[in-house]
Amino acid sequence: MVAIVSGDSKNPALALDIAETWDRVRHRLRAEVGDAAFDSWLKPLDLASVRDGRVMLTLPTRFMRDWVMSHYFEKIGALWQSECGETAAVEIHVVPGGAPVRGPAAEADSGSKSRLPAPAGIGRAEEEAGASLDLRFTFANFVVGKANELAYAAARRVAESPTVPFNPLYLYGGVGLGKTHLMHAIAWHIRERDPDRKVLYLSAEKFMYQFISALRYKDVMQFKHLFRSVDVLMVDDVQFISGKESTQEEFFHTFNALVDQNRQVVISGDRSPSNLDGVEERMRSRLGWGLVADIHATDYELRVGILQSKVQGLGTAEVPDQVLEFLAHRITSNVRELEGGLNRVLAYANLVGRPINLETTQEVLRDLLRANDRRITIEDIQKRVAEHYNIRLAEMQSPRRARAVARPRQVAMYLSKQLTPRSLPEIGRKFGGRDHTTVMHAVRRIDELCQADTNLAEDIDLLKRMLET
Ligand code: ADP
Ligand code: MG
Repeated sequence: MVAIVSGDSKNPALALDIAETWDRVRHRLRAEVGDAAFDSWLKPLDLASVRDGRVMLTLPTRFMRDWVMSHYFEKIGALWQSECGETAAVEIHVVPGGAPVRGPAAEADSGSKSRLPAPAGIGRAEEEAGASLDLRFTFANFVVGKANELAYAAARRVAESPTVPFNPLYLYGGVGLGKTHLMHAIAWHIRERDPDRKVLYLSAEKFMYQFISALRYKDVMQFKHLFRSVDVLMVDDVQFISGKESTQEEFFHTFNALVDQNRQVVISGDRSPSNLDGVEERMRSRLGWGLVADIHATDYELRVGILQSKVQGLGTAEVPDQVLEFLAHRITSNVRELEGGLNRVLAYANLVGRPINLETTQEVLRDLLRANDRRITIEDIQKRVAEHYNIRLAEMQSPRRARAVARPRQVAMYLSKQLTPRSLPEIGRKFGGRDHTTVMHAVRRIDELCQADTNLAEDIDLLKRMLET
């Protein structure tokens, strides 16, 4: 919709001309960027005026303006120029009040850092809206390694910076890798340093629950105000809103309102923004607009570090390094399970009065370890072994019996028996359809050789460790 066309207000024909040009530009923009992107970002563009070759466009929020400037600015200029044949300087200004950010807090606060006075009872409401923070989840208790250094640095920056360094901060990674820990750490840090800043942390699920009860009790205004009056909003496990349309819609508006007022937003998810299936495209693109930091699977050193820090924190029993190393080798899936394993060993040793050693650990964790082992596949083993002995992967299945390939093949069979729950016939099939007796023979042979040949024993030890981490 054209708001004001003041190319020359005394010349209606010219004004019409400009309106038509703008219409054609918009059509071509839609054709070029697609309906979804157009509807989210370019449809709200209004033409305010054209004067002396300067095309003034408006958008309702600074957030949208920044986005359009960084993604579509040149395209708009080029299209305008090709439509009217004259060089045009395009400018985009923020004029609040238009779509899509509506709501009492958003409009009243637009562009300023001040807040509406809180209605009575808002302190409590806010407390209820958020989720409580785990005392252990602080920066001091977070062990940094390669896998999480970016996420950690970004979280610290957000927590320490008096301004908003990037918006939103989007943290993602698999289960139990420290996303929630980092978010709580941000909240603790800000609360301690700057108790006046309002920090609200909650899960996406709780956000939805709050929203639905607001709808039910006709409290939507209160809900909107509450969520839009915080300085820092942190929403954990955002993948939860996938497929939940009205919650997404409300979340989108809340998000826009906050970002637009330069309030910090921190989001976590189990996958990257672009992979959030069931979440609208405009939401996905917004989530990826600030800093996206992924947390990778932990490596062995990080796991040992985390265990050591846990043990120090407990300050109770002496735990031999051997036990920590064993746990770090064998529990590789996620940090939560790793901690769980350690806790189980400590609790067991304490309850039944056993020493904390490797034997106790293996005994207590038998089922947990088996679950972890199951994740190693015969294919992984074949690949590793072939690499290690520098032979082609195809030799694992080939009928060739030359020593140079037969021995590595036996090693791979041996490891398959040890590290996977597969039966002898199953293993045989994966090695070019060999008989189960061949596999059995290989397992025995390698066992025997290991007794006498320390080089081989070390090789196998190394391969095991590589496969298990
Ligand atoms: P996520 O939210 O990613 O599923 P959490 O933040 O709940 O994972 O982490 C699971 C457990 O692992 C928590 O007890 C947390 O303290 C711990 N943890 C994860 N990463 C680390 C780390 N780098 N240092 C210390 N503890 C960690
Ligand atoms: Mg979590």
